[in-house]
Amino acid sequence: MKQSCGSPSSVTDARHSYRRDCVTLNKRERYSDGLRWKLGINTNPCVQLRKGRRCVYCGFLNYHDPIPPQKVGQVFTDIFADNNLDEIHRLEIYVSGSFFDNEEVSSASRLEILRLIDESGVSEVLLESRPEFITDENLESLANMVDPERVTIAIGVETMDDGTRNKLRKGFSTEDFVRSLNIIARYGMNFQAYLLLNPPAINNDKKAILDVISSSIRIVKLTEELNCNLVLAIQPYFIAQNSLVANSFAKKNHIRPPWLYTVALTLKMLNTMRARTSSNWQVILGNENDNVVPLMVSSNYSSDGYVCSCTETARKYLNEFNISSKRMEENIDRILYSSCDCKKIWEDQIGSKIGESHW
Ligand code: SF4
Ligand SMILES: [Zn+2]
Repeated sequence: MKQSCGSPSSVTDARHSYRRDCVTLNKRERYSDGLRWKLGINTNPCVQLRKGRRCVYCGFLNYHDPIPPQKVGQVFTDIFADNNLDEIHRLEIYVSGSFFDNEEVSSASRLEILRLIDESGVSEVLLESRPEFITDENLESLANMVDPERVTIAIGVETMDDGTRNKLRKGFSTEDFVRSLNIIARYGMNFQAYLLLNPPAINNDKKAILDVISSSIRIVKLTEELNCNLVLAIQPYFIAQNSLVANSFAKKNHIRPPWLYTVALTLKMLNTMRARTSSNWQVILGNENDNVVPLMVSSNYSSDGYVCSCTETARKYLNEFNISSKRMEENIDRILYSSCDCKKIWEDQIGSKIGESHW
């Protein structure tokens, strides 16, 4: 699950009818031939927080004055009226946890939002939810409003290893996830899985790569069997302010986001794997442009443990990953064939050698 809700909005002025703090995320990024619009709405807290059990990496704590579930539809209507949608190809709606959780978005609000989406020219919409809210009832009313082919349901699966997910305190099992995936497929909707690369429960770049690859293999197989379109969203772990990791054990346990070489190598391996499978799944790369405050993000590191000076360039290459597949392959190679000294340190850590310089 994306780390939803947090910092105040950037869409505001006096003429707006919705409050400044209703919007927690408002970012447009290049995507395919147009833009993707990430829109976060300040709803009631995620069910995990309501139960006092949030995921260890979640930095999403700002619940000041959330929008009541019955009002979310109206807020969304006002935001839509104030924004130009012409170039938006894909709309991503983030609430505080789950779009289908009635405590966050009432069913009437959901229908209002879905009607607006249906009438808009936006070709794709992404809605996030924890597995427990993905029910026949919820997806049936969604399918009645919007063409299911335009809809992607995203779940923060994070890993297919139950032991690792339990250490992250995610609060659901692989079995729960598979049950939800079956429902998504039954209604002909697309599915997006977030996978966390090098979460604190792993904190080892080599194991992190293996975890994402083995999780991806299992998810691809499942979606192929169910004939469900798949997007794998690889999220390099970053330390978020206010998360349990940031507050308690990061320093003690030397928790660190993955190297950028690790990100590049994982993407390269997934590309190779994709070329060898029959189904047409996609890979996208997440970033720290989230509605939480990042304290430490994926980087390359020098021998003294500080962020290496090549980091900026490598990040620039990775930022272009979602734009074009040709550029994506070139950029991955530019990172992996870097001549920077730090690459040797990374190679020693993962126990593998990559190749010579292209920079
Ligand atoms: S599911 Fe976990 S990461 Fe997502 S909002 Fe809830 S506590 Fe945070
Ligand atoms: Zn370097």
